Amino acid sequence: MATRSGKAGDILAILREGSPRTRSELAALTGQARSTVGQRLQELIAAGLVGETLHANTGGRPSTAYTFLGHSQVALAADVGVHHAVLAVTTLRAEVIEHWSGVIDIADGPGVVVPAIIERFLQLLSQAGRDAGDVAGVGIGLPGPVEFETGRLISPPIMPGWDGYDVAGAFTRAFGCPALVDNDANVLAIGEQLSRWPDVRNMIYLKIGAGIGAGIIVNGAICRGARGAAGDIGHVYTSLAEDRPCRCGNRGCVEAVAGGEALAATLAAKGLPAKTPADVVALARAGNLETTHLLREAGRAVGSVLATCIAILNPEVIVLGGEIAEIGEPVIAGVRENVYRRALPMASQHLQVVQASGRGLEGVVGAAHLVLAEVLRPEAVEHTLSALTVVDD
Ligand SMILES: [Zn+2]
Repeated sequence: MATRSGKAGDILAILREGSPRTRSELAALTGQARSTVGQRLQELIAAGLVGETLHANTGGRPSTAYTFLGHSQVALAADVGVHHAVLAVTTLRAEVIEHWSGVIDIADGPGVVVPAIIERFLQLLSQAGRDAGDVAGVGIGLPGPVEFETGRLISPPIMPGWDGYDVAGAFTRAFGCPALVDNDANVLAIGEQLSRWPDVRNMIYLKIGAGIGAGIIVNGAICRGARGAAGDIGHVYTSLAEDRPCRCGNRGCVEAVAGGEALAATLAAKGLPAKTPADVVALARAGNLETTHLLREAGRAVGSVLATCIAILNPEVIVLGGEIAEIGEPVIAGVRENVYRRALPMASQHLQVVQASGRGLEGVVGAAHLVLAEVLRPEAVEHTLSALTVVDD
């Protein structure tokens, strides 16, 4: 199976995939001489990315094996919603070391929100016993359309002050490392898929929070589209939204009837104490019948839009997350009702429509994976190692 080159970055990729490997195993996997592999391993050890361990052979004396050191550096990860954020320090295996979750208001604009996140990251680093010099990269999920290549938001409908703001640049300047910015539904989809559905290749993660958005995984990879707007399905038309005005300026968007902000407004108009999506959750938990009924209707509207997505993408799993979906039964039942009524049997027969795992950390795990995919890809590793060699000279 000598399909890989013997470059240091490729050897690291093999070690990241699984258990420790001996030099002979790595030579066989890469088709390189043991001496060449040994040289590459020394470079990776010098960079702190690989360590030695003893490999127990059956019957023989133990031999030296090499293992990826996931703790050698850390990633900073943020899953930022409209009213709420989760921030974390993770290992280079995307394991959460320290995390914080709490209230933020995205409408305060980048001048307030970005410095607040940076400060919180510094606190988390210190709690983890690390400092800014240990940070390999920063991954951020934000609740709007993000141009992934540039790390900027493009005309986000509900994020005043963020249009065109260089989010990636701000974090790169703060921590002196690469920063990757993506849509929040994308980081949730990546995190959920890697931690809960590793064998699923086609999946939609639908977030119903203050607004509605989806992260789409096709053939195992996130689908961002031409500019990063793929999956932004909150503003898709549905007749079930009854031509209601939406905050994007159009009418009849699914978000205008099923997003958390819209649900709160509808309940408030009925005289119920609902200002925010969190109030909608509280009313539902208290068993308020009007709220339960409205949530079922919201689920149906979401289901009608998802039925169209199913026809286009034929996913195996649809995961429903975000605080409104976390309410559970009335929303999920409404979604399932219209998904199974409207999607064709061939596409819906083996389709699972499930609630997100609810641990609340899938977004930061996904954001950490953005970082790892960038800083640990073979070419980036080669680049880092050659920079180290130059310094040594
Ligand atoms: Zn809209």
